[in-house]
Amino acid sequence: MSLLEELKPNARKRIMDLVSAAGIDVSDWSNFVGGEKRAASNPKYCYEWSFVEMGRFVVVNLWHASMQERNGIVSIDLNLRKSVQKYSQRGGKEVWKARAERLDLAIQEAAKNLLPIRVVVNEGQMRDSNDLNAKASRVEYRLLDPLPWAVTSYDWKTGECTLTRGALARRFVDQFTVQPDLEIAVERRMVSGMAYVRNPAVRHRALERARGACEYCEKPGFTMADGSIFLETHHVVPLGEGGPDTEDNVAAVCPNHHREAHYGTRAAEIRRTLLSRLQHVLR
Ligand SMILES: [Zn+2]
Ligand SMILES: [Zn+2]
Repeated sequence: MSLLEELKPNARKRIMDLVSAAGIDVSDWSNFVGGEKRAASNPKYCYEWSFVEMGRFVVVNLWHASMQERNGIVSIDLNLRKSVQKYSQRGGKEVWKARAERLDLAIQEAAKNLLPIRVVVNEGQMRDSNDLNAKASRVEYRLLDPLPWAVTSYDWKTGECTLTRGALARRFVDQFTVQPDLEIAVERRMVSGMAYVRNPAVRHRALERARGACEYCEKPGFTMADGSIFLETHHVVPLGEGGPDTEDNVAAVCPNHHREAHYGTRAAEIRRTLLSRLQHVLR
């Protein structure tokens, strides 16, 4: 049996029980006219596709039929913004739009903060999203996947994204993450004879801002064996020249441009370009 087949749910659990099993606080579900007894059918929650535990994890409902398996890896490609746009243009129901929007926000939250995603796998009659008059979806079976998923790509321009089962949330790493001692020595040599204290939060913010693409040439850094993306953090005006250890002076660049920024004949040009770009994005 393929992984994807194994993932097919064969029992029908209630959404409230599944999100609660994932670790979401469901105490507010009984806070409606139905009370404690009918908490599981609270309309405020039971039709939702996504639940966010801020800063910790995200729970999303996905259709088994939309998942795919490639080389033993199960994933799903989504573009919720496209769905929202489609509903807006063709007069789809407000509630579909709102649900898709919230699902997109939940995925963004996971992508930005590298949160794990817990997936409720649904099986049943999927509504044809291109037919505005189609019958509502009917879930016949649903289960919580015991294995966490992660956002492995999110295109911030288009909303196109991929969630992958069992993946680590994508991380952006630099030379200090990989080889702290050696790299501090190298950078010290490149900067001057002195050691400077660097604030790791500043490096991390630069890496997050760059989102895996060199802030000079805009090409993506390489992917490490664990799925994280490598760039090097660089003080545009070196600490040795009095440059500050702040976000607007730290760029994430590819290894090639990092060395060139220090040693190349175009060093001055690279410095100017990076400085003006950082000022621009941070304004
Ligand atoms: Zn580069
Ligand atoms: Zn540097």
